[in-house]
Amino acid sequence: MTEEGLRPSPDPKAAPGEGLRPSPDPKAASGERLRPSPDPKAASGERLRPSPDPSGPRAGGPLEPGTVAAPGHDCPLCPRLVAYREANRAANPAWHNGPVPSWGPRDAPLLVLGLAPGVRGANRTGRPFTGDYAGRLLYGTLLKFGQARGQFLEDPNDGMELTGCRIANAVRCVPPGNLPTPAEIRTCNGFLKAELAAMPRLRGVLALGTVAHNALLRAYGIPAARFAFAHGTIHALPHGLLLADSYHVSRYNTSTKRLTPEMFEAAVSALLARLAA
Ligand code: SF4
Repeated sequence: MTEEGLRPSPDPKAAPGEGLRPSPDPKAASGERLRPSPDPKAASGERLRPSPDPSGPRAGGPLEPGTVAAPGHDCPLCPRLVAYREANRAANPAWHNGPVPSWGPRDAPLLVLGLAPGVRGANRTGRPFTGDYAGRLLYGTLLKFGQARGQFLEDPNDGMELTGCRIANAVRCVPPGNLPTPAEIRTCNGFLKAELAAMPRLRGVLALGTVAHNALLRAYGIPAARFAFAHGTIHALPHGLLLADSYHVSRYNTSTKRLTPEMFEAAVSALLARLAA
């Protein structure tokens, strides 16, 4: 379930073939299907902050002093991922082989949330969605919609900049077999909480897949059952944050047409329209 190696989720709600659901709402033309929140506080505009978690970040230190806790390059919290990291370091010492830092301006209103680095992608290059197939559709779309500038060359030295969004992963280290365990997702969630807390103007999150969707809800202490993942849906979370769902931009999903460029662009443009309203 990494940037490159995503396979269909065992979650039956995310089974292939589940696509955008028709709606009489005119917003459906853009791929959006907003679900009203049952929380009465949703209309108050009160901002939700990530829930405190005593098992939050304990390793590493500030990515940028005074701004956010981020894992150190040798974060020890997930033994299986540490062992895989060490094996990758031995085999490919020139690769990044560590937790992949989030990328983009912290004052952006939008966070794109992926799953985990691909072994030959972000784990190799050190930049999210860079170095393997998964970045092509993501960055091509962000460039098309003015959320980035420059040219994406699948190289962290390509000079491309993110201008309107930041990108993070729910799990920062590459997992063996492309699949993080539930425990690893929970453990790294402390760093996601810190990431969210350090984005003062955050108003929307684009979740790439069910794992990212549920990790975002976990970070805010919202039960996953309350907002089910569905491609093309924009959820209004309590306190105003918008959570937009898209199938992951992996090679598997795009090659099987589970996610087409048109579907992804519709999901991105719908969220951007809501953020601009
Ligand atoms: S996945 Fe996250 S919590 Fe686990 S070792 Fe990597 S940085 Fe640390």
